[in-house]
Amino acid sequence: MSRPRLGLLGGTFDPVHIGHLALARTARAALHLDALRLIPTGASWQKSGVVASPAQRLAMLQLALAGEPGLIADPREIERAGPSYTIDTLAELRAEVGPDTSLVLILGSDQLRNLATWRRWQELTDYAHIACTQREQVPLSDLPAEVEALVSRVGCETLPDAPAGSIVLFSMPPVPVSATALRAAFRRGERPAELVPPAVLDYIERQNLYGTGSAGSVND
Ligand code: ATP
Repeated sequence: MSRPRLGLLGGTFDPVHIGHLALARTARAALHLDALRLIPTGASWQKSGVVASPAQRLAMLQLALAGEPGLIADPREIERAGPSYTIDTLAELRAEVGPDTSLVLILGSDQLRNLATWRRWQELTDYAHIACTQREQVPLSDLPAEVEALVSRVGCETLPDAPAGSIVLFSMPPVPVSATALRAAFRRGERPAELVPPAVLDYIERQNLYGTGSAGSVND
């Protein structure tokens, strides 16, 4: 197969954690991606309560991906003014890579369930395939009706030799971690070193992110 395949994984990455890395590595192998771009959202239109700045979230992602072959931090949504809509990112990337490259948007099941709230969501598959995996306790069954209808229409067993247009599922071993739970753990004064890459933990502590610099927690 000669058609290049580029994977895309958007997220808040507040902070990036081992669940994101497992998802990226698994997707890259399972879907035979030549490369995978991880794209931190700039101004998130869906999530309130984002804590780290865009520059800090990008810096953490770059630290996490150092030495990860084929995984690339892509700052385009942070550099773009206005809310970060995935459809705009896909249109931009399609214009860059041309009509032949396969674009594959990677989603956890929480995001797939949410898909019908995304801007121009029914056009996403005009620009890319969607590849989804189950996330911990969030099932891939009993999807909202309109998402189920899209999956029934364009769902495939494996990615076809086409630049866009299909939805596929792939499996990965569950990695029970979320950025929300991590931020809460830091605020409680815990040090969840097994859940974030060491360089990211170091950055969080140096930048006093997520309450890590609060009085009482230093140099006891
Ligand atoms: P938050 O807890 O703040 O909502 P998050 O941990 O869900 O954050 P995001 O940056 O929103 O992280 O996630 C980006 C993408 O990574 C989404 O598609 C999400 O489904 C997926 N993802 C996040 N954590 C995991 C995980 N533990 N296992 C599999 N996929 C994950």
